[in-house]
Amino acid sequence: MREFRNWAGNQSVTPSEIRTPSSVEEVVRAVRDASASGRRVRMTGTGHSFTGVALTDGLLLRPHGLTGILETGDGWVRAAAGTPLRVLNEELHRMGLALANMGDITDQTLAGAIQTGTHGTGRDVGGLADQVLALELVLADGEVVTARADDTGEGRDLFDAARVGLGALGVLTAVTFRVEPSFLLRSTREPMALSAILDSLDEITSKNEHLDFFWLPHTDTCLAKRNNRSQGPANPPSAFKHWLDNRFLENTLFGVLCAAGARLPGAIPRLNAVSAAALSASTHTDLSYKVFTSVREVRFLEMEYAVPRRHLAQALRETRDLVERRDWKITFPVEVRVTPASDAWLSTAYDRETAYVACHIYRPTPNPAYFEGVEEIMTRLGGRPHWGKMHTRDAAYLSTVYPRFADFLALRDRLDPGRLFSNAYLETVLGP
Ligand SMILES: Cc1cc2nc3c(=O)[nH]c(=O)nc-3n(C[C@H](O)[C@H](O)[C@H](O)COP(=O)(O)OP(=O)(O)OC[C@H]3O[C@@H](n4cnc5c(N)ncnc54)[C@H](O)[C@@H]3O)c2cc1C
Repeated sequence: MREFRNWAGNQSVTPSEIRTPSSVEEVVRAVRDASASGRRVRMTGTGHSFTGVALTDGLLLRPHGLTGILETGDGWVRAAAGTPLRVLNEELHRMGLALANMGDITDQTLAGAIQTGTHGTGRDVGGLADQVLALELVLADGEVVTARADDTGEGRDLFDAARVGLGALGVLTAVTFRVEPSFLLRSTREPMALSAILDSLDEITSKNEHLDFFWLPHTDTCLAKRNNRSQGPANPPSAFKHWLDNRFLENTLFGVLCAAGARLPGAIPRLNAVSAAALSASTHTDLSYKVFTSVREVRFLEMEYAVPRRHLAQALRETRDLVERRDWKITFPVEVRVTPASDAWLSTAYDRETAYVACHIYRPTPNPAYFEGVEEIMTRLGGRPHWGKMHTRDAAYLSTVYPRFADFLALRDRLDPGRLFSNAYLETVLGP
């Protein structure tokens, strides 16, 4: 099977060749072979990006041969770039360690996740790329280099550019993360009115280490999740409650509701109202990585914009008003998260306190007008699209919202003048 297809099924490509390198030397050979044969080369993660960022029609490298923890030290762990986040979490747990923060799911590879700026929600700790201490990468000329956070010379630029590098600067072979002793999170979930959250945004974001809320379109109801560190004791949900919430309610039943809504769109506002009324408050305390992450089985398309935190209330009010004004019927909740500013040049949180607004749509019933309408609001507010989620922005726009955009392009010109690592998506977002 030569075709590469992403998780959502909206991107696919048949590359000229597929290889699964299992050592740095094999990556170097692949990069040199691609260059010698005039083809482009790119490593993919697990295909969880909705954009064409991972595609290549040249030599496609699969990540599965580069997995596992390579080395640990005081407060850090170095892992092979293709290691799935799930495996990293489990290995860290066995060593009594944990990442300080992460996104919603754990299927992605380490390199794939950081290259597009994957993030969760955090008052004090940002996305995965902000927890990186060093990167090992193979450059277009086949040289293997390490970019480090503690580099005070020119190498620091490579570190700040390559952490969220879109695969444009080289093939990552290892990533070193900052880690800390395992910790527990107390998770409180409760229904709240969107209007109440909007009125108390500053207070609710500053009082909670990890705030994540989901607004159900066509209602004034949100499910607010607040995760804060706890000394314990652990009080994990029972196996049945875990299955009920994570598998049955959030996936199986939700999938049935989405399918029903796709057949009878007029019923969606009522279905959402029933879901909103069924939400109830709950708390549990568990290991951090179990609290941070969930399972996503219902296939969807997603667009997510990062806006300056001070514009969040306006962004949400305008989104709510737009959905009410137009005749769209939206089943999926709109998810809202926050992070502190990042120093990675192409991080969506670069140099500003950030709020994320994510719109999802059931995969079988795409709704480009919904994404287009919300995108207009977000870009008016200086929004930056998630590099791995659907959007229509190009280099001309992106250069206006990323202060270090020109520096990134200059570094790419120097490291990859022949555009060995480019693809159609990068030509759009970075230019030729
Ligand atoms: C169900 C679901 C839930 C999600 N949840 C979140 C979330 O909570 N927060 C969030 O921010 N995003 C989320 N995303 C988006 C996802 O995290 C990103 O799109 C991420 O990049 C996907 O990682 P991947 O391993 O699948 O990489 P891919 O999508 O396969 O690749 C992403 C990019 O990384 C590059 N790459 C991969 N490996 C290497 C390497 N070794 N060297 C150089 N470049 C490399 C690829 O070429 C490509 O440019 C979610 C997506 C889905 C489908």
